[in-house]
Amino acid sequence: MQLSSVQNNNLRHKIIKKIFTKKSWKFFFLSSFFSLLQAICYISILIILPLIQNIKSNPVFTNLSVEVNLVIFVIITLFICGLSLLFGLVGNKFSVQFSKTTFINLRNLVYTKIQDFSIVDIEKFSQSSLINRLTIDINNIASATEFLARVMMRSLLLYFGGLVGMLVLLIPSSISNINNVMIPEYWIIIVIVLISFGLLFIIFIISLFAFKSFHQTQVNLDNLNAVIQEDILGQRTVKSFNLQTSQEKKFEVKNELLRKSSTKAGYIIATVLPTIYFFLDVSLVLATWFSNSAIVSELFSIFLLMGLMIMALVMMIVGIVQINRAIPSFKRALEVLYYEPLIQFPTTSAKLNSTNSIELCNVSFRYPSKTVNSLNNVNLSINPKEVVGIIGPTGAGKSTLINLITRMYDVSSGVVKIKGVDIKQLTKHQLKSQISVCPQNVILFSGTIKSNLKFGNPNANLKAMIEATQMANIYDFINAQNDYFDHKVAQRGANLSGGQKQRLAIARTIIKPSPFLIFDDSTSALDMITERKICSELLKNKLQQTIIISSQKINAIRNTNKIIVMDNGEIVAVGKHAELLRTCKYYYDIAVVQMGQKEVDDEMNK
Ligand code: ADP
Repeated sequence: MQLSSVQNNNLRHKIIKKIFTKKSWKFFFLSSFFSLLQAICYISILIILPLIQNIKSNPVFTNLSVEVNLVIFVIITLFICGLSLLFGLVGNKFSVQFSKTTFINLRNLVYTKIQDFSIVDIEKFSQSSLINRLTIDINNIASATEFLARVMMRSLLLYFGGLVGMLVLLIPSSISNINNVMIPEYWIIIVIVLISFGLLFIIFIISLFAFKSFHQTQVNLDNLNAVIQEDILGQRTVKSFNLQTSQEKKFEVKNELLRKSSTKAGYIIATVLPTIYFFLDVSLVLATWFSNSAIVSELFSIFLLMGLMIMALVMMIVGIVQINRAIPSFKRALEVLYYEPLIQFPTTSAKLNSTNSIELCNVSFRYPSKTVNSLNNVNLSINPKEVVGIIGPTGAGKSTLINLITRMYDVSSGVVKIKGVDIKQLTKHQLKSQISVCPQNVILFSGTIKSNLKFGNPNANLKAMIEATQMANIYDFINAQNDYFDHKVAQRGANLSGGQKQRLAIARTIIKPSPFLIFDDSTSALDMITERKICSELLKNKLQQTIIISSQKINAIRNTNKIIVMDNGEIVAVGKHAELLRTCKYYYDIAVVQMGQKEVDDEMNK
């Protein structure tokens, strides 16, 4: 994906600042600071341990007995163990907070940005790619940042700390003693076995807690994906009804739930390493206390330091793999953020005429992916309060014409005016509030019949809902449900038939109080009788709106005030049904195919 020309350093800087806020940096530095303290504690313990053995022969406080000397040093070491645990836990808490605030910022930024995308922008990226950027990519970044703050920093510190510790232990004369001790005392073996089993048990218990939280995190992630998919796949509907804000709120709630559960899981997992270190430290201190051999604890410490360095290296390798995975993901997320949407709306409102007219002057349009125009030099004027039908075969350009009126795409040349004003001069809110569209592909949102109708008009009362659903011929179905308007609608209306979905979508369009109503092939899944009933309701035009009904079927548009016949991206003829039968051969042929020769002849002879 090519980044737009507006991508410059300034923009980059602004976006990066929004992702890595002062707050998230604070968490990062605190996490690194406490990890450093923990590493210092851990290394100090390993260095002090051999000293405890020396005290048995050379007490530091000569005026006190060897036992008291030992107790003092053991207490100091245990205190450092406790500090190490505390610093580890606090450091991990900050690292989890760093990662979570960073990726929540990033995900919110990307999601909000996509809300400003037009259909053409979404097509440019592709719907599934946007979904993956919001989910998989941002999760990769989240795991990598958490790993970076929690494990990588500490591994780095422990690696070098381990190196220093080993040098401190190996340099003294004790090296000469190593050869004297070949076999450690038997009880040390028992301690090692006990520690191993004890650690396994601790990890098992922590995993049990973590499993629940990870499971919940997955469930929350799925829920979040559902909102994202519903929103992106239903962009036309979201834009038609200007639902960006309500969808953003829905998203924020699910995102917050995911943050909570993943933070909880993160906290649980973050307790594992400090707990392990704590138990290892305590066991070492006790083992050294009771051991009689100075060299045993020295070897012990050296081996532990070596193990520590190897583990730190392994962790760093794992971290590097994670970061490598996250970098392309981060780039993909930034591509969305740097992208300049193709359709820009002005921020100041234009003054609209009071007449509800639509005008298209010399409009031509070519889809970005196409080499030929889908609309050619279209001139059209729709008068206020007119109910206009558009007819033509698939691919004639009906939906394209509607997409241009609703500014899903911008014209390649020419002008589209509503209420006498070029639609490019209208703010997003102005344009969306003027027009209520029923798109060709119906998208319903999970919730209830009522909640779906409220997308059309959040203030609609029961009377308005009954009227709209009666006009759309779906009221009888709603009335037959036990829960009436609270009847559940599954995601994308999966529990309704195609016809029910279309009728509910028609009702949702009718209920929106806009001066212009547009139906884009909205009755394709309906039988002839239902279609005729709905169309005759629309023809009554009780609210004196300007209505456009586009269809491939004569049945849907035959009684409209004006019929526009389209073929191959051009307007072939304009007129009333009876007039077109006589004057437009193309329309006559469609009528014969759909109505039958006899009925057409009868109508012409009337
Ligand atoms: P109708 O609504 O009359 O069936 P359309 O307006 O959907 O016709 O299509 C008109 C022409 O534009 C067709 O050739 C179609 O292939 C093309 N077209 C429609 N939508 C797109 C799109 N998103 N990208 C590229 N071409 C498109």
